[in-house]
Amino acid sequence: MVSSVDTSVGTERKVITELPGPRSRALHERRHAVVSAGLTQGFPIYIDRAEGAILVDVDGNQILDLGSGIAVTSIGHAVPELVDAVSAQVAAFTHTCFMVNPYESYVEVCEELAALTPGSHAKTSALFNSGAEAIENAVKIARLATGRQAIIVFDHAYHGRTNLTMALTAKNMPYKDRFGPFAPEIYRVPMSYPFRDGLSGADAAARAIRMIETEVGAKNVAALLIEPIQGEGGFVVPADGFLPALSEWTTTNGVVFIADEIQSGFCRTGDWFAVNHEGVIPDIVATAKGLAGGMPLAGVTGRVELMNAVHEGGLGGTYGGNPVACVAALATIKTLRDRNLVERAREIGDILFANLRSLAQDVAIIGDVRGRGAMVAMEFVQPGTKDPNPAAVKAIVNYCNQNGVIAISCGTYGNVVRLLPPLVITDAQLADGLDVLRAAVRSAS
Ligand SMILES: *Cc1c(COP(=O)(O)O)cnc(C)c1O
Repeated sequence: MVSSVDTSVGTERKVITELPGPRSRALHERRHAVVSAGLTQGFPIYIDRAEGAILVDVDGNQILDLGSGIAVTSIGHAVPELVDAVSAQVAAFTHTCFMVNPYESYVEVCEELAALTPGSHAKTSALFNSGAEAIENAVKIARLATGRQAIIVFDHAYHGRTNLTMALTAKNMPYKDRFGPFAPEIYRVPMSYPFRDGLSGADAAARAIRMIETEVGAKNVAALLIEPIQGEGGFVVPADGFLPALSEWTTTNGVVFIADEIQSGFCRTGDWFAVNHEGVIPDIVATAKGLAGGMPLAGVTGRVELMNAVHEGGLGGTYGGNPVACVAALATIKTLRDRNLVERAREIGDILFANLRSLAQDVAIIGDVRGRGAMVAMEFVQPGTKDPNPAAVKAIVNYCNQNGVIAISCGTYGNVVRLLPPLVITDAQLADGLDVLRAAVRSAS
């Protein structure tokens, strides 16, 4: 018998070597010689294949994915609809540059974005390769359309790693340190962070608006840029009323409200977009991550009078809206709809909240459990205080990884564990992941 390569994936977590396994360790050695040390090293489990919520590593371990590659593979890994669409597109053509020779899938993605993003007003879109690129373009468009320059951003914000988006991002280490000089005309104001500021949404909005009006001047502001639920900053969910109050202020003052839905969008929070939970209608929405099931694609979707204020040729890029990424987005959106994953995100949220809140009652290091839908996090503190406890988070993430569960940290203070499971995760897989997480938290307590 000729032995064939095993390509099965399985549906359960199964750890058969110590983690990382010997092949992962060997690959990690090779990496050090040729891959820049500036990239986060994390816990080196090298992946061979994946399906649904299970990753199989190069040693044959079956790993449970509670991170979705940072909220990207929300429809799960190796979804047949996406695999078929991408394979057929690769065979048909991989690139023309939309600005040289256009194709239908780009137009279709923009039709979907216009229909799915909040508000029934006329909208157009432009497609890009990454979230940072989408944010850069949203800012360009807002400045051109308003003839103003100032951009308002928030404490704990994360908008990317390019020069402009570094300036928009709040946290110094590791994103900004010694990478300056940074772009000008960016002003940071306090976020609503209920666990830490105890303010109502209205009071937190009044604090931010007072600062904008006194330190920047409303008529100088092109755009207010905000993550409706902050991602890297620690899954900070602003108090009810914060986003609507800011939205109302931007409308009154001719300021463009840009929602960065790159992490929170595409059903992750139990609605198509996180702003929907509070009925906020942004002027521009930036999307990426969950939009295209792992293919690089990002969108800027906005009011037609803003988007179309730009002169012909003012927007674009060689690869933006690549045809393979566009068909992946169409397959992703169809899968989200057909499998009703918006509802599944809510169910996952109910399960996570029930389990994590009960865990929080048993241990003194969980200060807060927060999020929406399948975007849920625990903030860790020193017992009896609100002082950040990043050491506990390091230990918990490490414990999870060693036991074949991918959980990711975040937070300005590095003290948050975030859960972003694929929305196709089964109840059994989720229960298994929660068992490991509970054991990890107990061992760090
Ligand atoms: C990931 C992320 C970005 C940047 O996206 P990239 O594709 O990594 O450039 C911007 N904003 C938010 C909220 C994100 O989560």
